[in-house]
Amino acid sequence: MDSGLYIVATPIGNLGDITGRAVEVLSGADLIAAEDTRHSRRLLQHLGIEGRLVAYHEHSDAGAQARLLETLSGGGSVALVSDAGTPLISDPGYPLIRAAQEQGVAVIPVPGACAAIAALSAGGLATDRFLFEGFLPARAVAREKRLQELAAQPHTLVFYEAPHRVLETVVAMAEVFGEDREAVLARELTKAFETIHRAPLGALQSWIAADPNQQRGEIVLLVAGASQREAELDESTASLLRRLAQELPAKRAAAVVADWSGLRKKALYEFLVAEKER
Ligand code: SAM
Repeated sequence: MDSGLYIVATPIGNLGDITGRAVEVLSGADLIAAEDTRHSRRLLQHLGIEGRLVAYHEHSDAGAQARLLETLSGGGSVALVSDAGTPLISDPGYPLIRAAQEQGVAVIPVPGACAAIAALSAGGLATDRFLFEGFLPARAVAREKRLQELAAQPHTLVFYEAPHRVLETVVAMAEVFGEDREAVLARELTKAFETIHRAPLGALQSWIAADPNQQRGEIVLLVAGASQREAELDESTASLLRRLAQELPAKRAAAVVADWSGLRKKALYEFLVAEKER
């Protein structure tokens, strides 16, 4: 096997989703750097691969990275895996890849499953352009601020979310993006309880609230991008709003622009607040 750092995607649920090339690379690598060695050991056992596992995760010290680089610069091969899906996608590895490249080590992707892409492929929202946001901030204030910043984005938005926060996140999304914006809950993809449910945010919120099972397991949330009308807030509406806010209290300026544009007063007010905090 050629020397290099192989970035190997593993399944996000269904073990059948490992690729033939991934099996080859995992079988042949001198070392397998895993986010959680016990977790990856189970996958290797399932595949009948012995593999020398070493830990590499977001809290790994410089020593762990140095040891991997030593193997690589000595002409060895290292396969990097995460707990599920494609390493580096909301998973550790960034400093290692940079360091390997800087040392002239070949960095070779071995693509496969990724929850974000699986959700997009089957979700039913536009996929020609999308914005991967990963996890939102856990704190409500920071989360709302980030949502506000995304409100006028025209591309489909992709979020990863923890099950115990999914309801409050969808409630916050409905408030900031409006109840009519379409969204998708993609849960437990490739697993027994796989659920892909598309609905406007207001209806999605009620659907999740009514069924605690929808607040379990692993979740991707997709949200449709802002319509042309909403996106226009960036341009002429935003400058009108800013100008009015110089003369009037922010709430009043938002109300006037809401009357004039048909946009939601709350969204306009929050736009002003977010700008002020920036
Ligand atoms: N690297 C992974 C990938 O390629 O998708 C993502 C790792 S991130 C730490 C874990 C998050 O991905 C979960 O909290 C969930 O939001 C999402 N995820 C992973 N597997 C999933 C699945 N089977 N169904 C839905 N979402 C999943």
